[in-house]
Amino acid sequence: KSRKKIGTVISYFEKETDQQIQRELNVLNELTTGLKNDELSVYLQPKVHLLTKEIIGFEALARWYSPVLGNVSPAEFISIAEHSGKIRDIDHAIFEKVLRWQWERKKQGHQLYPVSINVSPVHFYHDSFADDLLTLVRQYQIDPKFIKIEVTENFELFDFEKAKNILLKLKEHGYESSIDDFGVGFSSLSYLQRLPFSEIKIDKSFINEIHDSGMYAIVKSIVQLAKSLNMHAVAEGIETLEQYKTLVQIGCHTGQGYYFHKPMPIVEAEKLINSK
Ligand code: C2E
Ligand code: MG
Ligand code: MG
Ligand code: MG
Repeated sequence: KSRKKIGTVISYFEKETDQQIQRELNVLNELTTGLKNDELSVYLQPKVHLLTKEIIGFEALARWYSPVLGNVSPAEFISIAEHSGKIRDIDHAIFEKVLRWQWERKKQGHQLYPVSINVSPVHFYHDSFADDLLTLVRQYQIDPKFIKIEVTENFELFDFEKAKNILLKLKEHGYESSIDDFGVGFSSLSYLQRLPFSEIKIDKSFINEIHDSGMYAIVKSIVQLAKSLNMHAVAEGIETLEQYKTLVQIGCHTGQGYYFHKPMPIVEAEKLINSK
């Protein structure tokens, strides 16, 4: 009887795994078509100054509506893309859309805002990454201060020396970079000192639990650490007035989150800043 039970459990998991593999293959397949057909779009989430609630920049986030699969979340397709090489095409497509937007605004004589782009650590395996980025930005004639590099999690996929050289090169050319989702996953304290980041983005899971006394102490320490290292601390995932107030009290002056603005299509972001 117990054997049969074990048998059921095992076959259940095997089935799950098959389904997962099938799903991943489908996503990868559709992603290839999707990139060709320009199915990806950019959403922008405002980054705000916490004391004034003024918009000081945006983060660019990839969105994908596939006619076959429907909306697929970045959490799913970015990870699949990172493990299959497609991430280079995705990040390139998103980056180019951001640059085109900046270029349009510049042409129309509008004020530009810094936009943070998420860059997968996978890019650091390619020595040409910095040059590709520099070339693209030059093509669109955008000042480096309007582009920021967010290095996303997945430090398991990280080639340290290459990353350092690339980030240093970008820094020399005026590009600032931040360490994303700080405090979770594979990020480590030593990266703050060993890589030329100018900004720490405190992971939203920490902000979510900031009213736990232990978590409060951790977030406060990260903000102080950022200050002593001459870096900016940015809180992500601020959802409530209470979280917002606590962050201000701690001395964190920049943040993002649904409490202020959700990520939105470029046209919506445009309306928001032009109405100011
Ligand atoms: P991330 O870079 O840490 O982005 C923050 C995520 O938190 C975004 O999820 C955003 O929509 C969400 N968020 C913002 N404010 C709140 C809030 O108040 N509450 C909650 N619960 N969530 C909030 P999203 O857009 O689903 O992206 C997930 C992750 O996918 C990103 O995390 C980033 O690591 C990756 N990603 C997204 N776009 C790109 C891209 O173009 N390239 C690369 N390489 N990665 C990307
Ligand atoms: Mg990010
Ligand atoms: Mg993040
Ligand atoms: Mg993330």
